[in-house]
Amino acid sequence: MEKIVNLSRLIEELVKEYDVFAPVGDDNFSQFSPIKNLGEANLDLINTTKPLKNLFLPQSEKLFSVDGAKENITLEPKKNINNKRIILGAKACEVKGIELLTKVYTGGTLPDELFEERRKNTIIIGLSCLEPRDTCFCAALGVNPFEEKGMDLVLTKINGKFVMKSLNQKGEEFFKKYPDVFSEINKEDLEKRDKLKESVLKKQNLSLDLKEIKEKLDKEVDNPLWEEISQRCINCGICTYLCPTCQCFDIHDEAGKGQALCRFRTWDSCMFPDFTLMAGGHNPRGKKKARIRQRFMHKFSYFIDNFYEPGCTGCGRCIKFCPVNVDILEILKKVKD
Ligand code: SF4
Ligand code: SF4
Repeated sequence: MEKIVNLSRLIEELVKEYDVFAPVGDDNFSQFSPIKNLGEANLDLINTTKPLKNLFLPQSEKLFSVDGAKENITLEPKKNINNKRIILGAKACEVKGIELLTKVYTGGTLPDELFEERRKNTIIIGLSCLEPRDTCFCAALGVNPFEEKGMDLVLTKINGKFVMKSLNQKGEEFFKKYPDVFSEINKEDLEKRDKLKESVLKKQNLSLDLKEIKEKLDKEVDNPLWEEISQRCINCGICTYLCPTCQCFDIHDEAGKGQALCRFRTWDSCMFPDFTLMAGGHNPRGKKKARIRQRFMHKFSYFIDNFYEPGCTGCGRCIKFCPVNVDILEILKKVKD
């Protein structure tokens, strides 16, 4: 079903029952944050600075605390993971990122409980991407700006109005539950939406031969490209922190004097020199070129081995935010040539 939605009124209804998150901020910095009304959201952003993964795998979170001062050791239960929540305004590349992370975090024999609960309790209202950046290349990775997979409902902005379409039973429920916020869509709006879609898809027409790229990556271990990029890369880790699919974390314990010991999980990055440093001092990826190669191997070779698709959604963040202009797309093209 699809109808015109009064988004402002819908959000007023949703916040009574759910934690609602949407893109908040501007071109300098933005992320998915809790909102109480439409005015707090910025749905014109192409994609947020910080990826949606932050709501499933927070940059830093306390896993538990242990109060050793008490006679019995107590483990603090994790709070807020069972809250029902709605993510509104996620683009296709973000939702694809969550799909890939879900494979990593819940696909094995020991699913990550926190990630799994958050995913289970989340309804995703996507937003069609009408103006991809010149750094975006999602279509080359099998996603496209109008992709609906992984969403429960999707919004498309046409002539200043929002069309809302349900994509599954959860989505259908919205139309029954909040009938007053929807109105019928007319033929002109639908035609306009289809034309928009056609013109956006025409612009996102880059294709990459991922099979050939993987073969070359696997074969050319000593490709001089890695040394060349390492002359520029400053190992800041931004490309991995802001990547919607990068998934590595570190665990550390902290305790202040007289305070409970807390265990934290925080994002980590394969671009950091100590990422693979071992207790005895050996570091298998001590050289920068080895770390750079690892980033590409993980996304375009190992991820395909494990999950039959690349670990990249083509969101272009790593291109946009790298301080020294390391461009993943340019590098993939060079690997292929
Ligand atoms: S963002 Fe650029 S400089 Fe920073 S680690 Fe990544 S490739 Fe290197
Ligand atoms: S590798 Fe770069 S383009 Fe691909 S998903 Fe990560 S940030 Fe986006």
